[in-house]
Amino acid sequence: MPDTCYTPSAVQTAVDLANTLRPVKGEDALETVEQLRAFLDDHSAAEGAGPRRRLTRADLAEVREVRETVRAVLERASTDAAATAALINGGLRRSRATPVLRHEHGRWWTEVTSDTGRCSAHLAATTLSALAAVIATLGPARLGVCAGQSCRATFADLSRNGSKQYCTRTCAHRASVAAYRSRNSPR
Ligand SMILES: [Zn+2]
Repeated sequence: MPDTCYTPSAVQTAVDLANTLRPVKGEDALETVEQLRAFLDDHSAAEGAGPRRRLTRADLAEVREVRETVRAVLERASTDAAATAALINGGLRRSRATPVLRHEHGRWWTEVTSDTGRCSAHLAATTLSALAAVIATLGPARLGVCAGQSCRATFADLSRNGSKQYCTRTCAHRASVAAYRSRNSPR
């Protein structure tokens, strides 16, 4: 029996998509069609059999909407799992998510894709089904937002012990240095 039913690369795509928005810094790395193309190229393995035709401003607007849902799921899962489930289910329905069984190089696997031709729908089906599988397998507390005060990036904790609080080691290190300094500073 497999111990996981989610695809780590699709989970990473969800987190990376949410983190193209940096709310604290006010930075957005998904503002142009070129940036969208670069993002999809970087995550092509997880995008599966999604259509790769000419991307338009409409695709960009749709993907930005998908990002809003994916980010809300990552932000709220640990505090309001019921509302998060409704967000995921609504997003999967809108994207016409469809599970498919594939066979390649002697290996069988299932993936969730969309039966539409929209790249945003494929991205929604892939990322939301991956986050749904993390919640179903490991629990909603595994999705979260970095505790770094100047960060607020989202993360999915697929580790064995599930104690992740920071998005990266850099953020964890920065927080421990700040805590050390405040403990040792003269009052
Ligand atoms: Zn962080």
